Amino acid sequence: MEQQGKAAVGWAARDDSGVLSPYNFSRRAQKDDDVTIKVLYCGICHTDLHIAKNDWRNAKYPVVPGHEIIGVVTDVGSSVTKLKAGDTVGVGYFVASCRSCETCGKGYENYCSKIVSTCNGVDHDHGGAVTQGGFSDVLVVNEHYVLRVPPGMPLDKAAPLLCAGVTVYSPMVLHGLNAPGKHLGVVGLGGLGHLAVKFGKAFGMRVTVISTSPGKRQKALEHLGADEFLVSRDPGQMAAAAGTMDGILDTASAWHPITPLFSLMKPMGQIIFLGVPTRLLELPACAIVPGGKGITGHGVGSIRECQTMLDMAGEHGINADVEVIKMDYVNTAFERLEKNDVRYRFVIDVAGSLASGAGDAKI
Ligand SMILES: [Zn+2]
Ligand SMILES: [Zn+2]
Repeated sequence: MEQQGKAAVGWAARDDSGVLSPYNFSRRAQKDDDVTIKVLYCGICHTDLHIAKNDWRNAKYPVVPGHEIIGVVTDVGSSVTKLKAGDTVGVGYFVASCRSCETCGKGYENYCSKIVSTCNGVDHDHGGAVTQGGFSDVLVVNEHYVLRVPPGMPLDKAAPLLCAGVTVYSPMVLHGLNAPGKHLGVVGLGGLGHLAVKFGKAFGMRVTVISTSPGKRQKALEHLGADEFLVSRDPGQMAAAAGTMDGILDTASAWHPITPLFSLMKPMGQIIFLGVPTRLLELPACAIVPGGKGITGHGVGSIRECQTMLDMAGEHGINADVEVIKMDYVNTAFERLEKNDVRYRFVIDVAGSLASGAGDAKI
């Protein structure tokens, strides 16, 4: 039965100032294979900032950001089998893919050319509507793209797993950097990097944080449990660690020299890029040819990987270090995020900030 779309309230950016303000809109009608979700928490990812400020010249204003979403199912369509009202769930970076191409067939729908991102995406299955994200009280999502959150997880700290968590977990598994005794390097200690350390230690690996900031040493070693800390600008420290790492996750989004990183790895080691610096990276062939080394990129992860990651996080007690804020602090949070002034992720208490009640029903 065709239902009416649900009234929603969120915070949207209206122009490239990136300033968010309250915005009333309507969610699409729930279809048979959809679930309706009351949003509880939503993390703030760097991508949200890029979209709100139109850094990638593709913002479709007004845009409601947010793709690290934790919520509770309030209603399900008649053909939904995986979920029921009352379930605690997550929604990550994307809410649709074609599910028929070769890439989707291999289980990597995160690389489908028809992927629909959770916010600022164009939803071709629903009349070309622009998707609006989790800085809002209610979502309607096809059940295939909804993740089950294991019981007992602190829900605010779980939200960043939906993007930052899977973005580090997925390449670790894909590139075999999930085996006890292997040595993982992690460049950058922000939202992604701090989770890479936690997953690396849970996989039983030796983890070394590589940073330009000597001030992060204590946090990395004592709080996050990293084994070693390397200051990338210190040639002595870098030389002492040469040839020791099986692979490196590079999470830094600002431009940085990558040539010295290759020397840290054993032969055939890979650097996996997760950040997207806008300036061209330098890659002299002599850094990769002699040791058969490589560099690759990675974007989020598949639905299957995201579920496996959440299940592992639940089992091992892995979650993000967060600063929980109310929605009306979001513009200040954006300003602070731009200056990397957060340890390590802002998470919006959406349900505690937006009192429309639009997401409440049937539980
Ligand atoms: Zn993200
Ligand atoms: Zn596809």
